[in-house]
Amino acid sequence: MEAIKYRRILLKLSGEALMGASHNLFDKTTIDSVIAQIVQIHNLGTKIGIVIGGGNIFRGANGLTLGLERVNADYIGMLATIMNGIALRDFLSNVGIKAKIYSALPVANIIKGYNRDSMLKNLDDDYIIIFVAGTGNPCFSTDSGAALRAIEMNADLLIKATKVDGVYDSDPKENLTATKHHTISFSDAIAQNLKVMDMAAFDLCRSNKINVEVCNIFHSNSLKDSIEGNGQGTLIYA
Ligand code: UDP
Repeated sequence: MEAIKYRRILLKLSGEALMGASHNLFDKTTIDSVIAQIVQIHNLGTKIGIVIGGGNIFRGANGLTLGLERVNADYIGMLATIMNGIALRDFLSNVGIKAKIYSALPVANIIKGYNRDSMLKNLDDDYIIIFVAGTGNPCFSTDSGAALRAIEMNADLLIKATKVDGVYDSDPKENLTATKHHTISFSDAIAQNLKVMDMAAFDLCRSNKINVEVCNIFHSNSLKDSIEGNGQGTLIYA
């Protein structure tokens, strides 16, 4: 068995990771495969924080085309991440994994507000920590929330789990000769204007020296390979 290289990780799961290719908000087959991957790395002793997005339900940008005020559209997007987080806790509980939810926007009677000391204690006690509502502020994304929480939990790797295989030198959908970077430094990724995550998130990771692995969550063992330092996607390093 490969040695574990990263023992404390922040996993950024987009809402689409719960939806798969279906048009349902939640797709059972997809969820089962994502949960199986999380269980696999949890069983290896990895401490895991998860920032869940809301894109399967609502993104702020959707609201703009409907005429919503930007800030209100973003609040709806953050509430969508809370719904996903509540569901994710049950999906984990169904396979015997304890998880705690921390919300940047507390919802009275359902989810307590974020408290770092309490979060770190639960992480030490082997709970998976689910972070919802991103940063709690409009005009940000859950990528920024992921970078922030990765710093706060002292993560040694942020895994951005997506439905693409990694970071390419050009868009592989438009350019058949596009090649994937297996590793790239933050400064080269910025110089080449590669779209990895939003700039605020990227800058937080770079300045706090948190490596980012971009991987395809729909490939088996992608999380395990990432924590073993053999990621199949792209590693962006400080
Ligand atoms: N959002 C926000 N502030 C945050 C995080 C998220 O306003 O700190 C809103 C924003 O409108 C975003 C939506 O919540 O579009 C859902 O998050 P995101 O798009 O990052 O979800 P994902 O694409 O990862 O599923």
